[in-house]
Amino acid sequence: MIEVIKTCWSPGTKGTQGALRRQIELCNQLGLFCTAATTPYQLFYYFYDFAAYRGVFLFNLVFITVYLSVLPLNHLRWHTTASTTLVLNSCIQLFVVTFFIGTGAGVSLFYFTFAFVIIFLYQNLRRRTYVALLAAIGLLYLMAQFLFPAEAARTPVPSPWLEAMYAGSVAGVLTLSGVLLHLFHRAIDRAEKELTFNNRYLEDLSNTDPLTGLGNRRALGEALNREWARLARQSGVLTTVMCDVDHFKRFNDHHGHDGGDRCLQQIADVLRGMLSQPPALAVRYGGEEFALVLPGTDAQQARILCERLRSAIERLRIPNRGMGEHAVVTVSIGVASTEHADLRPHTDDSKRLLKRADEALYQAKANGRNQVVYLSYQGLAKQA
Ligand code: GH3
Ligand code: MG
Ligand code: MG
Repeated sequence: MIEVIKTCWSPGTKGTQGALRRQIELCNQLGLFCTAATTPYQLFYYFYDFAAYRGVFLFNLVFITVYLSVLPLNHLRWHTTASTTLVLNSCIQLFVVTFFIGTGAGVSLFYFTFAFVIIFLYQNLRRRTYVALLAAIGLLYLMAQFLFPAEAARTPVPSPWLEAMYAGSVAGVLTLSGVLLHLFHRAIDRAEKELTFNNRYLEDLSNTDPLTGLGNRRALGEALNREWARLARQSGVLTTVMCDVDHFKRFNDHHGHDGGDRCLQQIADVLRGMLSQPPALAVRYGGEEFALVLPGTDAQQARILCERLRSAIERLRIPNRGMGEHAVVTVSIGVASTEHADLRPHTDDSKRLLKRADEALYQAKANGRNQVVYLSYQGLAKQA
């Protein structure tokens, strides 16, 4: 049902966003609401004494037609014309109707609703223009009040219909203002939700490596700082791992860059599969290098995990023909752990643990590749 109602004020909104969309929706809503608000008065004129009220009735028919014309105008993307048509039509209608039936029916109270919404009907409405429009609306209201008092009405409405009309006008002004406020509120809520969603999407994008779908160096930096700060607050251990594909240049030379990309994706899948549980994190550090952050993993557990990782990648049996007929892709892994749970590190020191893992990786390469080498953070501390 709500969706059906929404489509009523959707003409011209397709492909639009933000403030422009809200402007078009509001313009369409007002066109429909003003038509609806005029209808009860029309019914009265028609059924009570059509001969007497023919003038105001026929004028109102023209005004209703103009109100409904904002929908096709918006559909044609003439948004500013639609808004201006709506505002002019309503200002003239309120003036003309008051001229016919006098101020007693309270019709001119609707000027206040227009004064309230007009700023949302235009994008980038200059303050000076807005103030001028408010002054014009205020002037029209005062003119209608003073020029067409109830006793001087051309086609007066008798009591108690006049009082009923006044009550209807007050109720109409309040309902219209309330409904519009509610719709603004919903539109703002929707815009806020979209913004939050887009921000989250952009944040994910800026932390993700597009080739492998793993985190990137930025995500690594954030995770490392977070875990390092946690170590400074509470006891625990932290392990970092650097993992580099062996002889990958030769792989690329032989299998092509696209083949190299597919190989990196397969290795990333293994890492993802083995570290599916947060807060453990695997990222592509750059090129053919990956890094892991393993909170709560001590040296012993890390060595076992990395050995499993190394052998799982070897067991993928991705041929590396650049290194020989039966050679397969392997990785070298460097591991470094804080080792002692009572370590209280300085917060700006997080990169040193990663550097330590990188030194271990360098040793793994120097020792002949396809192996895991472990170094402790404390060893580094002693050296420093
Ligand atoms: P080592 O065993 O000493 O690590 O030797 P290596 O050949 O792996 O090391 P090197 O640093 O000389 O070569 C890394 C290669 O990785 C060079 C570059 O062409 C390749 N590479 C870096 N990024 C990408 C990438 O995104 N896709 C592909 N296909 N190759 C990449
Ligand atoms: Mg490398
Ligand atoms: Mg390499």
